[in-house]
Amino acid sequence: MNKPVPQPGIMEIDLYVGGASGAPGSNVVKLSSNENPFGPSEAAVKAAGVAAHQMHRYPEIDGYSLRAALADKYGLEADKIILGVGSDEILQMICNAYAGPGDEVIYTQHGFAMYRICALGAGATPVEVPECDRVTDVDAILAAVTDATRIVFIANPNNPTSTMIGLAEVTRLADSLPPHVVLVLDGAYAEFVEEYDGGAELARTRPNVIMTRTFSKLYGLGGLRVGWGYAQRDVIDVLNRLRAPFNISTIALEAAKAALADTAHIDKSLAENARLRVWLSEALAAIGVQSDASMTNFILARFHDQEEAEACNDYLKSQGLIVRPVASYNLPHCLRITVGDEPSCRRVAHAIGAFKAGAR
Ligand code: PMP
Repeated sequence: MNKPVPQPGIMEIDLYVGGASGAPGSNVVKLSSNENPFGPSEAAVKAAGVAAHQMHRYPEIDGYSLRAALADKYGLEADKIILGVGSDEILQMICNAYAGPGDEVIYTQHGFAMYRICALGAGATPVEVPECDRVTDVDAILAAVTDATRIVFIANPNNPTSTMIGLAEVTRLADSLPPHVVLVLDGAYAEFVEEYDGGAELARTRPNVIMTRTFSKLYGLGGLRVGWGYAQRDVIDVLNRLRAPFNISTIALEAAKAALADTAHIDKSLAENARLRVWLSEALAAIGVQSDASMTNFILARFHDQEEAEACNDYLKSQGLIVRPVASYNLPHCLRITVGDEPSCRRVAHAIGAFKAGAR
């Protein structure tokens, strides 16, 4: 079967401004990919180093020990968890499993770019629905559902808006969708929300709900590519048919287990993020740049228009500050800024202040 080439491609989306920028010793600060500003847990680095001595061996075929560690930490069942090369791979497996030509895949107006890419990759039709003031609108999603709908993706909290809907709304969505529709609750940023299980309970109790999570954000392992999904057994069985055996390396498995267990690093990362996302948002508001209350590890800074956002981005770049323009998310007047450590937050706030005061 000839499948259409996904448009726009991954390079155009520019999801990952990679490379050495932000490396230790460099004056460049990278605040563009919502990574943990404190880096990986030292315990994870050590575990990866030890595991490196086993790189001549194949890893566990299905990452059992990490699934067991996740089950233990989050109170889930290991046999209802699947691991992916980043949660991106889980999103891709879901589209390939449940959608194809003639099917529709729904996501929100400012939803994560991979939903569209994965839908197109599966040959399905992407359907974008409006949000309400940058917040997921359950009624708009329900109104867009047709007989052809196969998947609804929502990120809760959402990237790049940083907003979320409450559990009551997510539950209403899950309960109102017809049974032929799979609801994917993307919890890439769920750890940054206090007292939110990322949709785990819904995925446990509803046959058509899948929760996805990642080690790339709070756990600081974006470069190792580890994500996971949780759903009822028959859904996990379907996804496993698409999963390549040995998809997660031994180094990644061992580092992820160590990262999960490093509560000191987790607590510090969460506490600093909670403090600094408010600080940054307020510092920007004081100089006339608004943002919604962030439930994530980034803020979405709103400028007057696209021209001002682009000029500010250019100025920040000239100052060694890399943030994320989000024109490809239909938000041309905004810049997404990862909440860095305190010096980075101060630097970016200062630079935006200077820009607003006329620096170019
Ligand atoms: N979902 C959302 C909402 C994201 O923002 C991201 C990463 N930016 C992902 C999924 C994918 O993360 P990863 O593949 O690194 O696990």
